[in-house]
Amino acid sequence: MRIVLLGAPGSGKGTQAKKLVDQYGVVQISTGDLLRAAVSAGTPLGRAAKSAMDAGQLVSDDIVLGMIRERLSQPDTARGYILDGFPRNLAQAAALDALLAEIGQSLQAAILLDVPFMDLMRRLTGRQTCRQCGAVFNRYTHPSRVPGVCDVCGGELFSRDDDNEKTVNQRLTVFTEQTAPLIEFYQQQGKLDRIDGTQSIEAITAQFQRVLSQRGV
Ligand code: AMP
Repeated sequence: MRIVLLGAPGSGKGTQAKKLVDQYGVVQISTGDLLRAAVSAGTPLGRAAKSAMDAGQLVSDDIVLGMIRERLSQPDTARGYILDGFPRNLAQAAALDALLAEIGQSLQAAILLDVPFMDLMRRLTGRQTCRQCGAVFNRYTHPSRVPGVCDVCGGELFSRDDDNEKTVNQRLTVFTEQTAPLIEFYQQQGKLDRIDGTQSIEAITAQFQRVLSQRGV
């Protein structure tokens, strides 16, 4: 499997990627997760990326492409991968096609999770993630049984620094201006599938399976 998950911040890309990882035995490659790990570790790359991330802007293409090139060269990607949050603009999409061509691969599908903007603000500002197991909850739509505590493993829940209202607004603007043109880009390549991201998590996963099997993935 070699697919891209497209969708605005909060559309459920990470949640679905984790389900597909379990079902298909492939890896999730989230540039957001890789960048947050670099920020936490205080690496030079993390320090260079932090201000753009805090402002809800895109990190430079050079940084992100370097990370992707390095990640795709690791052996655990041999069974396949789900790109989550990458590419984020047309330059990254073109660079990805070129990189894959270099290693004799190509994308099989780009799947768009479609969620109205009205819903995204609530999803993002309410989002809480477990520090230990990464399970995701939402204060408004899917609260944990005990506030601040993970239902799955009892770990502590936290809100991401960039899930505040001001930064979320900026991230949604960036999506409209820079990422949404990728919908047309992949449509023209005949690789685009759309899934209604307002359905239940299980219904969306089932639709992913149908879409993937139709494409022979
Ligand atoms: P995410 O977890 O995908 O919502 O990403 C969080 C933040 O990381 C974004 O708001 C960007 O600042 C940065 N980021 C993640 N992926 C990319 C990318 N492909 N290109 C540029 N910046 C990115």
